[in-house]
Amino acid sequence: MPERKSFRKKVFVYFITVFIVFIVAVLFFQLQREKSYKVNQLENTLENATEITRNYIEHYRLIEQNNLAKADTLNYLIGDPNLRITIIARNGNVLYDSFVSDVATMENHLQRPEIQKALYTGSGTNVRRSSTTNQEFYYFAKYYDGYFVRSAIIYDIKVENLLKAERYFIIFIVIIFLLIWLLVDFFTRKLAVSITKLKDFAIRAGRNEPIDTDIDFPGNELGEIGSQIVKIYGNLRKTHTDLEMEKERFFNHMNILNEGISFFSSQKEKILANSHFIQYISVISHTSTVSAEHIFTIPEFKKINNFLKNYLNSDIEFPKNELPQIEYTISKNERYFKLLCIIFADKSFEILITDITRPERRRLLKQQLTSNIAHELKTPLASIKGYLETIMNNPGIDAEKQKYFISRAHSQTERLNLLLNDISLLNNIEDAGELFEIKPVVVKNIVRDVVENLENRLAVKNMKCKLYIDEGVVVKGNDSLLSSVFQNLIENSINYAGENVTIEIKNYLEDNKYHYFSYSDDGIGIPEEHLQRIFERFYRIDSGRMRETGGTGLGLSIVKNAIQLHKGNITVRNKPEGGIEFLFTLAKR
Ligand code: ADP
Repeated sequence: MPERKSFRKKVFVYFITVFIVFIVAVLFFQLQREKSYKVNQLENTLENATEITRNYIEHYRLIEQNNLAKADTLNYLIGDPNLRITIIARNGNVLYDSFVSDVATMENHLQRPEIQKALYTGSGTNVRRSSTTNQEFYYFAKYYDGYFVRSAIIYDIKVENLLKAERYFIIFIVIIFLLIWLLVDFFTRKLAVSITKLKDFAIRAGRNEPIDTDIDFPGNELGEIGSQIVKIYGNLRKTHTDLEMEKERFFNHMNILNEGISFFSSQKEKILANSHFIQYISVISHTSTVSAEHIFTIPEFKKINNFLKNYLNSDIEFPKNELPQIEYTISKNERYFKLLCIIFADKSFEILITDITRPERRRLLKQQLTSNIAHELKTPLASIKGYLETIMNNPGIDAEKQKYFISRAHSQTERLNLLLNDISLLNNIEDAGELFEIKPVVVKNIVRDVVENLENRLAVKNMKCKLYIDEGVVVKGNDSLLSSVFQNLIENSINYAGENVTIEIKNYLEDNKYHYFSYSDDGIGIPEEHLQRIFERFYRIDSGRMRETGGTGLGLSIVKNAIQLHKGNITVRNKPEGGIEFLFTLAKR
């Protein structure tokens, strides 16, 4: 992995550079120290030589005697053949030079830097290449009364000489260097482990790849930081996953809800909406809407709009448990919706649309039913009241008439009883269907019992009832409800079909789920325009006459509801050859 190398290399190069700079600085300092030490030493030697020369000149009065050739013996005194002695007159003429035999050929030395310095300060030094010997010399000159004595020695303070002299020191430095090299290598390696692991982790986290949070970091500070970061990341990731799951659950929940629900920001931008929401606002607005924000332009949502305007544009603060809300019902295209809007503390809000068409219709139906029932009860009650008042108001009425009125009143109470029984049965089927005991029922037995009970009434009308039901036809249901299905159908034929009528009841088909039945008579039938409404409650064909004589108008309602409770269905038609036929199914299980 190139990145791994590069990081380690960088740290390594950095440390080593710092170290080398340090070593070079130390060496440089040492060199300077050595140099000044050597120069001092040189100067001492040269000054000594100058002093010895001067003493020699003074002692033997060489200048006065003009016998400077004698100075050659100085060499023995000084004992260093490399040391060059020059004696120069005040005017710069060279009087004697230990390296040159014919001083007359030498140029004037007054302008030599060391001579100039000696002239003004008493002594002077200079390093330069000698034009006479072409060697690098260190010159030292001193001015005495009337002449200069100059000594010079070959100047050879060189780095390589120094390095030679400092060999042990340099070996020591190299060993230290190698040791530090190893140490730096060791530490950068350790550092690199943590950093590399952290980097790999960061890259994987950045790419959202699955990460094993069980990374083994070294036990140093960086490792500690690394494992803390990974731990924090692990917690974060877990919270994130939990949150995602919650969110998904919430989304799923939103989508299986029957309500349309949408959340909006305080700027009225949609945050979230389920499919029902879009579907409902499409129904309400009568357009194929795709955006939830559309509701703010629909007239039916005006109340919500005004409500939002009041709260969103104001600085009203409200406690969390008393969130402002508005709720109302609208009806559109024969459907009913309940709209609810709740504003949250951060001024975002939720709009809920509930389709209440079914319960609303049920409510209206019940309302209508109640008024129908009241109306239906009024008729027999008024009759009873009328008969009783006649008897009370006419005390002299003869016994025969009295008996007649009483029997009429009695038959009206019978009717009332019948009506109340039917209403109660219908209510039970509709609202408490689960209370009917369900078990396998042999249909043929049920029908036979009903026919037997009605035999007398059938005979009166000279009617026949033919059964074509197989013994094996068994449905899962409630026997008393199934009895009332056939009882109502046969009674209707007796009441409305006419005389000399033949009834046929048969099972004509079966499939996996159902047994199919046909009930028919060959009576007068029902006029086509009434056919679709005869299952409605209290619907009668010749209502005025029937109310007096016939049933309650609930018979076929009871039949239809009872069949639906048995997971079946019923339809009706007039037979072409005359009479009526009901086709219905009953579930096998
Ligand atoms: P009810 O309980 O008063 O008999 P139903 O709901 O059973 O009322 O019947 C509704 C109407 O349908 C009756 O008023 C009657 O006019 C008509 N009807 C029902 N069955 C027959 C039939 N077999 N032949 C002719 N008309 C019928």
